[in-house]
Amino acid sequence: MGKISLRFCRLQISLAKLLAAQFFVLMVPVPTYGYVCNVPNEWFRGLNNTRAHTANGALWPNGVVKYTLHSSLSNRDRVTIWKAFTEFHEKTCIRFQPRQNGDPDFTEILTDDDVCGLAEVCKIGGYQFTKFGQGCRNVETMIHELGHTLCLYHEQQRKDRDEYLSFQGCPQQEILPIEEDGQDTSTLGLYDYASQMHYQCGFCDGGWPRSPSVTKCGDDATTGLSLLDADNLNRIYNCQGCFRHRWKKMEQLTSQDRKNVHSFGYKNSFGYLYPCRALVNGEIAVGKYSRSRRVCSVSNQGKLYELKHGAEVLTIPGGRTQRGATYKLVRSGSVSPNYLVANAVNAGRLNEAEGGAQTFIAYATLRKGFWHKEDVIGKVATFEGELGNAKFSVGERELASENYFVLTCT
Ligand SMILES: [Zn+2]
Repeated sequence: MGKISLRFCRLQISLAKLLAAQFFVLMVPVPTYGYVCNVPNEWFRGLNNTRAHTANGALWPNGVVKYTLHSSLSNRDRVTIWKAFTEFHEKTCIRFQPRQNGDPDFTEILTDDDVCGLAEVCKIGGYQFTKFGQGCRNVETMIHELGHTLCLYHEQQRKDRDEYLSFQGCPQQEILPIEEDGQDTSTLGLYDYASQMHYQCGFCDGGWPRSPSVTKCGDDATTGLSLLDADNLNRIYNCQGCFRHRWKKMEQLTSQDRKNVHSFGYKNSFGYLYPCRALVNGEIAVGKYSRSRRVCSVSNQGKLYELKHGAEVLTIPGGRTQRGATYKLVRSGSVSPNYLVANAVNAGRLNEAEGGAQTFIAYATLRKGFWHKEDVIGKVATFEGELGNAKFSVGERELASENYFVLTCT
């Protein structure tokens, strides 16, 4: 469902029209509240097989979504939809393919000016729809609705959302409920204010961020799929090749996961170093994980955080090379910035105050005097396609270096 403000939507839609549309489309009991722009998931209750993120049969096989385009779509709409597809094609292994004769399960993409956006959650079998309408016929709404089609729920309805959002002062009926079903809490990743599946903040349905460093959510914060949206889809659909890396909760690493963490030979006095990341002050901060100490060290605004919980560690199932896809470190000066930006493993995100740019994993050996050297892991951000200096936390300080390695996959 779209993420435009409630008030706008309510002005647009009469209750009678809303109920008529709802009855016609979904044929479920009339809820006591509801809005077309931000349809509560109650609308989907009663539809079989649509609840679980990853229930058998609810995912699209091999991540291939068959679609048809309704004849009512304008050329401009078609370009918008194509741009949304491109986001998925570039950042995940999801593929949108035109329905061929005999494809039983498919989604029809269409406009409907009675809604901002609307789609069933997951593959429901046979015909389903993905729609966007008046005032919302844009790339972000289409990405959001296609996210539902692919089995993503609203980020602000996660079980742990109350740790991240406040709904103080909101009438109960305006607060979207936590999704009780279909959420495997153990696989929830870092909370993502910037997800396209998050409503805009500053309204009762999107909530108010508890982190003072965050004021924007959803398409206010991000164009396209967010980093964590892409990670989420790549995990749910078990994407392979250069999409096979997985970020695992530090405290839940299994022995198999530990085999899949990779040091790339980086070692300091505490042992080998592995990349980790955590949500700190609105930043998805990348840093180093010490296996021996079981601590993720990240820096944010010049301050060092040593985390024992809530951080994620990078694992690369299948090893560094699998079926021609190889993860490796590339020296910053040895290739063009464009090459690095195109092939670097996306890992983190700067906070709003720093522009919200994506960050990659940077490795460096920092030297102090002749004898002392320290291997570190930090972050490097991209600004308008160029890479800046990489930043590393060392002790209580943050150091910048133009000589570093970037973790890439080709
Ligand atoms: Zn939605």
